[in-house]
Amino acid sequence: MADRSFLDWPFFDDAHRALADRADRWAAAELADVDHSNVDETCKALVAALGEAGWLRLTAVDPADPASRIDVRSLCILRETLARHDGLADFAFAMQGLGTGAISLFGTQEQKSRWLTLTRAGKALSAFALSEPASGSDVANMAMTATRDGQAYVLDGEKTWISNGGIADVYTVFARTGEAPGAKGLSVFIVPADTPGLEIAERLEVVAPHPLARLKFSDCRIPASAMIGKPGEGFRIAMSVLDVFRSTVAAAALGFARRALDESLSRVRERELFGAPMSELQMVQGHIADMALDVDASALLVYRAAWLKDQGAARVSREAAMAKLYATDRAQDVIDKAVQLHGGDGVRKGHIVESLYREIRALRIYEGASDVQKVVIARQTLANSTGG
Ligand SMILES: Cc1cc2nc3c(=O)[nH]c(=O)nc-3n(C[C@H](O)[C@H](O)[C@H](O)COP(=O)(O)OP(=O)(O)OC[C@H]3O[C@@H](n4cnc5c(N)ncnc54)[C@H](O)[C@@H]3O)c2cc1C
Repeated sequence: MADRSFLDWPFFDDAHRALADRADRWAAAELADVDHSNVDETCKALVAALGEAGWLRLTAVDPADPASRIDVRSLCILRETLARHDGLADFAFAMQGLGTGAISLFGTQEQKSRWLTLTRAGKALSAFALSEPASGSDVANMAMTATRDGQAYVLDGEKTWISNGGIADVYTVFARTGEAPGAKGLSVFIVPADTPGLEIAERLEVVAPHPLARLKFSDCRIPASAMIGKPGEGFRIAMSVLDVFRSTVAAAALGFARRALDESLSRVRERELFGAPMSELQMVQGHIADMALDVDASALLVYRAAWLKDQGAARVSREAAMAKLYATDRAQDVIDKAVQLHGGDGVRKGHIVESLYREIRALRIYEGASDVQKVVIARQTLANSTGG
């Protein structure tokens, strides 16, 4: 049983504690044996199941309620819980939020009603298309263009590493509209998957498989009303979306780390070495102590960032960057220790700690690589200091 004591921290209220209990019970019942052999079909089925159970309502604002907001602590609790049970379920949940984040935060009522009604019910899958072959970390270097033509925009260019690429029903796509050079000349558009001129150019395989693709846009015509926000606001919108969802990547890493710790605790209690349970070896206890400390310290950073955002902070870039950098980095180490404590079983294909070892790696790269998070933290720390 995973440690639940963090739910008594002051970041949470009773509704969060009840949510965590319900989510854990649902995940234990529904995610015990998820088939990862066909990730496309499994992700579609997971989205449908998450929608039916009501969890996807947390991923976006309610179009019927103008006062509705995304509660980042709830998102983090769900991601931590789902990741602890199954990485693909966490992925399916997270993408419904990331893919529609721009619509939730900056969409018109019409855009919200059309798309969020579907994605929150698990009846449409969404994707976030920002990265390009030559601009991953350097978003402002984006090459893809959106050219105004009467009441339409025409999209030309490529996007790559797009999660849910190939199975999404709708993409939020960032492109250069050219109001100014660099970051100030980008805009964002809603592009339904069946729009002529949008093609899945290549499916990409990674160490922990999930639906992923390179997209090609050729003379892809969309109505001007598909723009989210105003021309030139694309970079600001992308950063605002990441400001909400970055902490949730850290929460997923925390879920993976907690599972690795739980598996290790069972292992060292059950396995006998040199005539006694492994847990009596002090070097083993040293690993357990390091893992427990990393998990708690990560949780503090994750839920501080989420709580701060929920208190109404306009931006939490520094806190979200700290949470993502620390929790993903430490989870990698916690999982590595779990593999070590499991001996040969730890690297056996299909073992839970072997799959965690593969699941965690990409989290230190996407939604801002660890090095980029350090740049964000350093810049803000320097800016906030008085220099005296
Ligand atoms: C599994 C997976 C899923 C993804 N899903 C999506 C998605 O859904 N939508 C989307 O738009 N993108 C997605 N991405 C893309 C992801 O955001 C980019 O891979 C990431 O931003 C890094 O860009 P890059 O791969 O071009 O690497 P590069 O930008 O070439 O960076 C390479 C490395 O350089 C280092 N680096 C970068 N900047 C700095 C700096 N300022 N200082 C020091 N070092 C630095 C980092 O170590 C970085 O890993 C996904 C990627 C992966 C692997």
